[in-house]
Amino acid sequence: MRGEQVRNGRHKTVLVAGGAGFLGSHLCDALLAEGAEVLCLDSFLTGRRQNLRHLERDPRFTLIEADITDPLPPSLAKIHLDAVFNLACAASPPHYQADPEHTLLTCVLGTRNLLRLAESTGARFVQASTSEVYGDPEVHPQIESYWGNVNPTGPRACYDEGKRAAETLCFDYLRAGRADVRVARIFNTYGPRMRADDGRVVSNIITQALSGADITLYGDGTQTRSFCYVSDLIEGMMRLRALATPAPSAVNLGNPVELNVAELAERVLTLTGSSSTIVRRPLPVDDPRRRRPDISMARRLLGWQPRVPLEAGLKASIAWFAEEMRMAEYVRTPANDDQPGAAVLVGLAEDTPQRRSTRSAGYAPGPQRMARRGED
Ligand code: UDP
Repeated sequence: MRGEQVRNGRHKTVLVAGGAGFLGSHLCDALLAEGAEVLCLDSFLTGRRQNLRHLERDPRFTLIEADITDPLPPSLAKIHLDAVFNLACAASPPHYQADPEHTLLTCVLGTRNLLRLAESTGARFVQASTSEVYGDPEVHPQIESYWGNVNPTGPRACYDEGKRAAETLCFDYLRAGRADVRVARIFNTYGPRMRADDGRVVSNIITQALSGADITLYGDGTQTRSFCYVSDLIEGMMRLRALATPAPSAVNLGNPVELNVAELAERVLTLTGSSSTIVRRPLPVDDPRRRRPDISMARRLLGWQPRVPLEAGLKASIAWFAEEMRMAEYVRTPANDDQPGAAVLVGLAEDTPQRRSTRSAGYAPGPQRMARRGED
């Protein structure tokens, strides 16, 4: 596979926007493993430096601190980019709702900035879209041709409508021949490097079970989701990028095995041996009742389907969160997150990210790694 990332005797160069996040950091790993040179761009609004620490000394990895809603570092346009992945957006409901205006702008303005970069550099563009574009779906399972059922004014709209508008932009660029664009609609994904304070059902339930806290079930727990393990999802993204010609539409990537969140809680309780008790909390506004991807297009076009069963994925995730909890010494704050060797609190911090003032950083190719604002 390594040879795939070499063109005309040089490493392919790939920009991963949102590369410090849960999915983005795994994507950086996969690209580096295939031999690419990776430029990771992140604002650290929800991404974390610790997700990239193991890459700091890799000569083919460079980190650029920047927010995609700002003008991108002009030096990026001078690099021969082979591909741009856009995973830059807060993705869990509490985090993307913390600053809805910024979420919407990240989706629309940020995607436009990256599309323009792809246009000017000739890079292939891969957009991380979401099953949220289907809203609270009336068609089940969700197939790509379904247009969705989204409340345009509700609390999820900043993300749902933002990602829908981003898809619109992507396909306008594709139709106009301005960029070679591919769009992945990513369904619920879980695994190591999820933030413990993400507020998502998998991270919440596992950390609650491990710490003996109450397991919070929202509503009656009969709402369903389909959970894809991170390695499967990344494999799908890599295959979408490698496709010789753009797909005719967005492509669903997710695990079609559906279960309700009460069943998920029971499985985690069994696997952890936890004696936590289940408590009910109100169902969030516009919480989708059912969600399951139809992945026939991904199967056909990419030869892809998830391979990791839920139990194996949950065991790996539980082990990872348990290790994080063992290492935890104090509550993480944005300040101590920046300190080398800072421990991560797992758990239970309620530090929903707030909008931080971020400006673009310049990019200087060369030995300097982990570029920080003002240092280059
Ligand atoms: N949920 C829950 N308890 C939690 C967190 C979430 O019951 O502690 C529910 C939530 O209401 C939703 C489902 O689990 O129905 C998945 O929520 P998540 O935030 O993980 O992702 P979503 O698919 O809603 O974006």
